[in-house]
Amino acid sequence: MHQAARPVLEGDLLTSVIVMLLLSSAVTQAATFATTIYLHRCATHRALVLHPVVEFFFRFVIWMTTGLVPRQWVAVHRKHHAFTDEEGDPHSPLLLGFWSVQLGNAFHYVKEARKPEVVEKYAGDLKPDRWDRVLFDHGRVGLLIGIALLCVVLGVGWGLLAALVHTIMYVFVLSPSINGLCHYAGYKNFKNTAMNIRTLALLTGGEGLHNNHHAAPRSPKFSLRASELDPAWPVIKLLTWLGLAKPYKTIEQIGPVSSSYS
Ligand SMILES: [Zn+2]
Ligand SMILES: [Zn+2]
Repeated sequence: MHQAARPVLEGDLLTSVIVMLLLSSAVTQAATFATTIYLHRCATHRALVLHPVVEFFFRFVIWMTTGLVPRQWVAVHRKHHAFTDEEGDPHSPLLLGFWSVQLGNAFHYVKEARKPEVVEKYAGDLKPDRWDRVLFDHGRVGLLIGIALLCVVLGVGWGLLAALVHTIMYVFVLSPSINGLCHYAGYKNFKNTAMNIRTLALLTGGEGLHNNHHAAPRSPKFSLRASELDPAWPVIKLLTWLGLAKPYKTIEQIGPVSSSYS
């Protein structure tokens, strides 16, 4: 007799949960590395130049895993550097309150990202290209394709759950911890209002070394002390070795500079 194909996740419940969590974590880490290497270090701060093929790959990952429009993210983040913890900072826990940023980071981000004058002023150098017009400016389409792919791999129920876990981790835990917690708690190597949290750096592709980053925004490397690990830096070094990236000077080479997005 003809047997129906077994769904991928027909095994026991525990296995299904573990597979779902592993895939969801992989998606979150892909989003995190694309955010820190492409959106943050490359597009926002020009801390490295990526080969066009690698840049396209990261843009594609951002599109499918976050739905963010790079120009908007760059503008909001450059404004954060221009007014760090002062009037005008889009998401300062010192001005808005810790929980407002930690829980409402997405709200503060969207409010600022929707201001065309902010995007024009702070990200005017990033002109939309053909790919932006066709694909990347349509964040929701990318997200829907990403969710559909998870459903194809895991089945609809587990796929939707994996997408939900990823969303909670990226939107409500990791991103807000940089904008909120890292401007509220941690230790400092340099005199600025941001702070380093080593364990958070391990989960955020190095972003948790936020005090170092505010001290030298153009450095493609966020770690400084031997005890600090920036997981994105070995990836950038590998890309550089392969001839696919050109990093700017590191924090050790340029030293701390005053707050600036450029
Ligand atoms: Zn900051
Ligand atoms: Zn930055």
